[in-house]
Amino acid sequence: MFEQVPTLLEKLFLGKSIPRRAAIARHVRPGLIERIQLAEFRGTVERVGAHSAFYRERFRAAGIEPRRVRRPQDLGGFFTTSADLRQRDTAEFVCAPPQAGFETTGTTAKNKRIYFSNEEVHDIGFEGAVGLWNLGLRPEDRVVDAFDYAFWNAGITLMHSLNALGCFHMIGSKLEPAEFYRRVKDYRFNVLVVDTAWLVSLTEIAQREGAWPVKFILSGSENMSESTRAWIESVWGGKVYLAYGQTETLGASGIECPAQRGYHLNELNFLFEIINPNAQGYGELVCSTLTRKVMPLVRYRSNDITRFVDEPCGCLLQHLRRIDKIQGRGDEIVSCGMGMISPWIFEAWLGSAAEIGDDWQVAVRQPATRDVIEVRVEMRSGVETPAAEVEEGLMRRFQEMYPYYGKNLQMGMFELGVQILPRGTLRGRSPEGQAAGSRRKLRRVVDERVAAAALPADSVKDL
Ligand SMILES: [Zn+2]
Repeated sequence: MFEQVPTLLEKLFLGKSIPRRAAIARHVRPGLIERIQLAEFRGTVERVGAHSAFYRERFRAAGIEPRRVRRPQDLGGFFTTSADLRQRDTAEFVCAPPQAGFETTGTTAKNKRIYFSNEEVHDIGFEGAVGLWNLGLRPEDRVVDAFDYAFWNAGITLMHSLNALGCFHMIGSKLEPAEFYRRVKDYRFNVLVVDTAWLVSLTEIAQREGAWPVKFILSGSENMSESTRAWIESVWGGKVYLAYGQTETLGASGIECPAQRGYHLNELNFLFEIINPNAQGYGELVCSTLTRKVMPLVRYRSNDITRFVDEPCGCLLQHLRRIDKIQGRGDEIVSCGMGMISPWIFEAWLGSAAEIGDDWQVAVRQPATRDVIEVRVEMRSGVETPAAEVEEGLMRRFQEMYPYYGKNLQMGMFELGVQILPRGTLRGRSPEGQAAGSRRKLRRVVDERVAAAALPADSVKDL
């Protein structure tokens, strides 16, 4: 009977009207959401156990009997990883003939391929419309997007959301920001949907040459520091909201609400868990797909570190749980002379320097016997402060903010160096004015000690 609940809910109460869906969302009880999720979860486990070669084999090896699984915890230490998707043939995950495919981009050479039915793509986009409605998007608004459409899902998902709302929409695609600005300006689009790193370049142009009034800007694909958000909002005179997702979730894991305090999770399509939480509740986000029939994923490890947010926000989606901004990636915790280091240590430190942009990277190197923490940063556009002064300020604040690490530094357990690079270097693009970076996700902490052992010293410099 539980298998019928989502379909009934859909047909009887939700229908095709976005305003109605948004109004109903406010009254959905969390207990009901959980019941539906668990019913769908059981169905997903049984489906992959019957139709996916990968899951059949892995369940057998782990002694898992799909029909006995009631909730994610019943699977013990069973997870699907990014490495599984890369190393195994995609066909081994597929349970029904696919009609649409997308690729992930990332920090490794081989892109993951994720397949869907057209209906799945449509439904995720359609349901995403409620999140946009919650941010104030209405049919009379005019939307332009600057997404990279090559093999990527973000623009397609957005298109289905906007179709559901009936907005005027044009695809700018990922043009060079100056060209985008020139061609788009006269249209007076009042909602922009763009990538974070690219938006910074566009905003610099708008600051110099003039912005037009916007209702809001929705930015996906990566975190944005609060100081950058405040600056972008001041240039455009409108709110900047963030969305969170991976291609594995069709980019639709969560979206901010007017409170700008964390992402409301898409709990109708995914069941989320946070595993191995620390004392503050931060752990790795794991999700199981609930409604996907073509390529369902069971307990997929996102590799993103976050925590559930409890404070109420009062928006339409208040009954959908929220997660905090992503704090870093699970595989970016490195043990070195400084201690166990992870991106959020540096996020707080570098975020305190107004001269530094959001693109930064910390490399652990070992040119001799001691670990060297090399902090690579890029100056914000228009900053005139001499590099030596910026560096000195950073070193002073490091000691103030982290006396524990400061003591280790004084004791010679590691060396700390700041390297100021030309803008755009870290994303592998040429200096300002050129098209936005080729790397959608920037690795924050990299361990170059292993690479150094295998490569000649000169080539390591350029990694
Ligand atoms: Zn909210």
